[in-house]
Amino acid sequence: MRVLAVGGGAREHAIVAALVRSGADVFACLKNKNPGICKAAKGYTLVDENDVPRVVEFARASAVELAVIGPEAPLEVGLADGLRSAGIPTASPSRSAARIETSKSFMRELLSEHKIKGSIDFALVDTTRDLELALDKLGMNVVVKPTGLTGGKGVKVVGEHLMTREDVIAYGDEIFSKKIGGAARIVLEEKLIGEEFTIQAFCDGRRVVPMPAVQDHKRAYEGDKGPNTGGMGSYSQKGGLLPFLRKGEYDDAVKIMGDVIGALRKEGAEYRGTLYGQFMLTKEGPKVIEFNARFGDPEAMNVLSLLKSDFTSTCKRMADGSLSRKDAEFEAKSSVCKYVAPEGYGTKSLAGEEIDVDEQAIAREGARLYYASVNEKDGKVYTTTSRSVGIVGIADSIEDSERIAENALRHVTGRIHVRHDIAKKSMLDAKVRRMKDIRSGRI
Ligand code: AMP
Repeated sequence: MRVLAVGGGAREHAIVAALVRSGADVFACLKNKNPGICKAAKGYTLVDENDVPRVVEFARASAVELAVIGPEAPLEVGLADGLRSAGIPTASPSRSAARIETSKSFMRELLSEHKIKGSIDFALVDTTRDLELALDKLGMNVVVKPTGLTGGKGVKVVGEHLMTREDVIAYGDEIFSKKIGGAARIVLEEKLIGEEFTIQAFCDGRRVVPMPAVQDHKRAYEGDKGPNTGGMGSYSQKGGLLPFLRKGEYDDAVKIMGDVIGALRKEGAEYRGTLYGQFMLTKEGPKVIEFNARFGDPEAMNVLSLLKSDFTSTCKRMADGSLSRKDAEFEAKSSVCKYVAPEGYGTKSLAGEEIDVDEQAIAREGARLYYASVNEKDGKVYTTTSRSVGIVGIADSIEDSERIAENALRHVTGRIHVRHDIAKKSMLDAKVRRMKDIRSGRI
């Protein structure tokens, strides 16, 4: 089958690899020359991924029979709608259904109106005066979010990024004046205490077929410190749970995702594509942090590296509305993904620097390599402002997967930034202890 894949990051490299593995001929639209995608694809074009007419034209010219969109920005401008209008079945949500990600205010209101479990206290705020009033009501235990897309970087947490009421007001004013996230609107939310986890699920408008849980690490620096980023690394555990996550809690989160798909359908926005739910496991169970209308990045690398079932057929069935349980069969293995980012990532990335990636040596260590937002020129790899390369180790245990990933990381050199602490035993043990304290009320 001929399949269009949109996007040029490591998530999209993982998507393309899974499509090719299941027999697809891939035609890629991407803005940067990702060496992994360009090598695996039958054809590609370097294009603005948000330019709907040009992407549709390339899809038509390539005679594709199916499309998959990786990043969120093309969903927001209605690329899935454009492709469907051109008669191309698409395994990604319409602009209207993608509001579950592209508008945090829509998401919070949907959950609260449909009384979906996992909802939290929030206020939608459009002026400084309303922000003051909302702070009076919710108190200072809050998180400040622009309502629109910010690539995971617009969220600021009181007590970590913002210390005083004045800091909150100042950041609010910055969001209003600069329209951070595309609108002068803030979602002020109750600050949740717990451990974060992600569940991604294939959806066909009605059914939700979940994948193994993953834990991402969004902070730029070791010890979960520093600014929020697109994500520095992630891990999954054999069997689909996480060291601190119980089966009943995983099931509760999947139920929330099913309820969200149902609510969207009632609102006339049928959701077809991968849905990403990010949850905080609190004392009272999983609460919703956010939804994404696509695979997570890095989380796509964990689950797609483990996927045994035929990904191309699953995408076709998401698009057709005919998913079944068989669409999510995974290797019984753990996985650890660590991202290589340019030096300075999180504040000011060193873009345009050459990095050396020894593909053969990485393969010899038994790790998978996914190229992210780099550019290839004359056989050399150059950084952009975003993340550069994802390395995934797979083994029975998280510990062994982590070791494989670390050994492979030695073969990526240059002015780079990596969080080596991700998925180390000491970190996992600390998370289990912390969750125990949260459950028992000690935290
Ligand atoms: P988001 O872009 O909504 O995923 O937020 C980025 C990060 O901010 C999350 O991964 C959390 O670490 C943190 N965060 C977001 N919302 C909340 C919340 N309501 N309570 C506590 N932390 C949050």
